[in-house]
Amino acid sequence: MTLASIYYPIYGPETFCPHCRQLMPALTLTDTYLCQRHGAFEVDAASDDLVHLQSGRHWRLWEQKWYRQHTHADGIRFEIHEALDSLYIQGYRVTKVTIAQRYRGLINAYLERGRPLGYFGK
Ligand SMILES: [Zn+2]
Repeated sequence: MTLASIYYPIYGPETFCPHCRQLMPALTLTDTYLCQRHGAFEVDAASDDLVHLQSGRHWRLWEQKWYRQHTHADGIRFEIHEALDSLYIQGYRVTKVTIAQRYRGLINAYLERGRPLGYFGK
């Protein structure tokens, strides 16, 4: 354990804000980062998620990027659509979408309500 890891949250003395991507400093001796525009984010001790205190939204770091942690199937749909649009603009044709295992319950409940199965293939 380095000296810095004692004083700072697990993502170090600074990380970038999930909303505006500006660097935000950690508050020493807390698990909190402070964005000038979006306020306080706290690291959840159990999951290591970054939690926006004002909205309660959870974010998880993967490959140097924060990903919103979803509690509704609509949020997942929205994120998939954004990613597909972005790839389409870059000239890619998507052939497969992989959804994290932890969302299996959310997605299954959504599909069981009779929504079109082909939705994710487009
Ligand atoms: Zn921000």
